[in-house]
Amino acid sequence: MIPQSFEYSVPNTLQEALQLLAGGNAKVLAGGMSLVPLMKLRLAAPEHLVDLRRITGLKTLSESSGEIRIGAMATHHDLDSSPLLRQRCPLLAEAAKHIGDVQVRNLGTIGGSLSHADPAADYPASLLALGAKVKLVRAGAERTLNLEDFLVDTFTTAAEPGELLTEIIVPVEEPKTGVSYQKMVQPASGFAIVGVAARVRKSNGQISLARLGLTGVAPSPFRAAAAEARLQGSAGSAEDIRQAAALVSSNIEANADIHASASYRKQMAQVYAARALHAALAEAS
Ligand SMILES: Cc1cc2nc3c(=O)[nH]c(=O)nc-3n(C[C@H](O)[C@H](O)[C@H](O)COP(=O)(O)OP(=O)(O)OC[C@H]3O[C@@H](n4cnc5c(N)ncnc54)[C@H](O)[C@@H]3O)c2cc1C
Repeated sequence: MIPQSFEYSVPNTLQEALQLLAGGNAKVLAGGMSLVPLMKLRLAAPEHLVDLRRITGLKTLSESSGEIRIGAMATHHDLDSSPLLRQRCPLLAEAAKHIGDVQVRNLGTIGGSLSHADPAADYPASLLALGAKVKLVRAGAERTLNLEDFLVDTFTTAAEPGELLTEIIVPVEEPKTGVSYQKMVQPASGFAIVGVAARVRKSNGQISLARLGLTGVAPSPFRAAAAEARLQGSAGSAEDIRQAAALVSSNIEANADIHASASYRKQMAQVYAARALHAALAEAS
C-alpha cells in the first residue's frame, strides 16, 4: 500500500503547470480520490505528479452568454452547493450531490472525474443530457470538444499527453425544462450500477426537447438516441414514457460484474429511465 517514489510539483499558475506537463511523463493530481488509491496499489506509477491545488483560476464557476463555465478543479461539493448551478443548471448540481460521501465530495473534482473516465461515474449522464463541452489546454494550444468525443472508452479519454482539462461548459437551462437524475447505487462504493439523467421541455402540450444520458450501464456513458426520438413531439403520457424507456438499453452491450449481470443492468436502465422521465416531466409541467 505504499506508492512507488515520485517527483512532486505544486505550480502556482496554469502556465507553470503546462510547462511541467509538456515533457509527457508527468501526471496531473487533482483531488487524488481515484489516482492515489491506484498508486498505492501500484496500478499506476507516475514518475512525476503535478498538483493543481494552488491554481485558483481552475476552481471558478461563472456564467456568460447563456453558458456556465466550470473550472476543472471545482469539487463535487462546490458544484452541489453552488447557487449559480442550483438555479441555472440544476441537473449538474443534482448529479454532484449523488457522488460518494462527504470526504469524496470535498476533495474530488469534476475535472478529475471526467479525466479518470470511470464508466460508472455520475457526472457524464447529466453532462451528456446537457450537451456539455470540455476545454483542453496544452502549452501554446487549446481545443474544445463535445463530451461525447472526449469520453472514448472505459478509463480512456481523447486527452493527449501534456493536455490539461481546464473547463467544462454547459448551457444555462431554459424555462419550462424539467430535469432529474436517478441512480441505482452500489451500496459499498456509492458508484452507479445504473444512473439516468433526463432533461425534457414541453411546449403546447408536446415534448419539444428530450435528452437522456446513461452511466454505469456500458463501457462508456451514452445518450439514448432512440428513446429521445420516441419522446420528441409526443404528449409525454405514461405510455410514451414506457415505450421510450424500453428503448434505452435495447441496442447496447451492457457491462457485467459481481454487482449486476448485463441483463439486470439493461432491465434496471429501463426502470430508472422511466423514473427519471416521470420526475422530469412532472417538473416541466
Ligand atoms: C470511496 C469513493 C467513493 C466514490 N464514489 C463515487 C460515486 O459515487 N460517483 C462518482 O462519480 N465518483 C465516485 N468516486 C470517484 C470520485 O468522484 C473522484 O473524485 C474522481 O473519480 C476523481 O477525481 P479527483 O479530483 O479525485 O481526481 P484524481 O484522482 O486526482 O485524478 C484522476 C485522474 O484524472 C487525471 N486528472 C485529474 N484532473 C485532471 C485535469 N484537470 N486534466 C487532465 N487530467 C486530470 C489524473 O491524472 C488521474 O489520472 C468515488 C471515489 C472514492 C474514493
